[in-house]
Amino acid sequence: MSKKFVGAHTSASGGVFNAVTNAEAIGAKAFALFTKNQRQWVAKELDTQTIDKFKEALQKSGILPKHVLPHDSYLINLGNPEADKLEKSREAFIDELQRCALLGLDRLNFHPGSHLKKISPEACLDTIADSINIALEKTSEVSAVLENTAGQGSNLGWRFEHLAHIIDKVEDKSRIGVCIDTCHMFTAGYDIRTREAYDKTWAEFEKIVGFKYLMGMHINDSKPDLGSHVDRHHSLGLGKIGLDAFKFIMNDARMDDIPLILETIDETIWKDEIELLYSFEL
Ligand SMILES: [Zn+2]
Ligand SMILES: [Zn+2]
Repeated sequence: MSKKFVGAHTSASGGVFNAVTNAEAIGAKAFALFTKNQRQWVAKELDTQTIDKFKEALQKSGILPKHVLPHDSYLINLGNPEADKLEKSREAFIDELQRCALLGLDRLNFHPGSHLKKISPEACLDTIADSINIALEKTSEVSAVLENTAGQGSNLGWRFEHLAHIIDKVEDKSRIGVCIDTCHMFTAGYDIRTREAYDKTWAEFEKIVGFKYLMGMHINDSKPDLGSHVDRHHSLGLGKIGLDAFKFIMNDARMDDIPLILETIDETIWKDEIELLYSFEL
């Protein structure tokens, strides 16, 4: 039995339960979803019927809650330098955590935040940690999962040190984790294309962040080059990373039992990409 749980970020259009059905249709053993429209601040509350339908669909699918990696809204910036906007982000983030809890899920993936060139990166990282502390205190059960970024614009979280800085300041270490996106990692300057580069990069990750915090991954090839700080995903094997890195991941026990989520650009081949990844297992 494979210990890898591969899936994709499926559409929840028409209701969160549809993300489960869409995952099953592509042979996924894990999936990601938005529990609300990711481009809007406010959403209708999850009603009992929707929650029950989601839980029922999930149970039927055989996919475990820990292999579901919800993603928060793109509008949220937990490091926003402007007080009113920061407050809005914090409220929205708490709402997202509560939605996950209602759905019986245990983790929420989010982009750390951006300093918008108005405060120093360090001050921004501190603000993000404060935001997480506030949110964790006001909620329960669900872990906050920081995603590494490509470092595009003023987005922080592209260096392992950024993730470590935030984790260090989070009070409840049992509810903080990280999600590593292979495309973001690569365009942030961390090479994983050869055995040597792969081992070196993950050794650095272990030293600075630690595998005990790894709660999910986004499995994407990259259109832009190493260190370009541009966030553009590509289908597996068609980008600058190439297939070897994904072969290493599928045979790396450190990535066992966590959601491995495709966010590649052509969803019509997700089923094939999932099959391809499983075929890499030795
Ligand atoms: Zn991602
Ligand atoms: Zn991305």
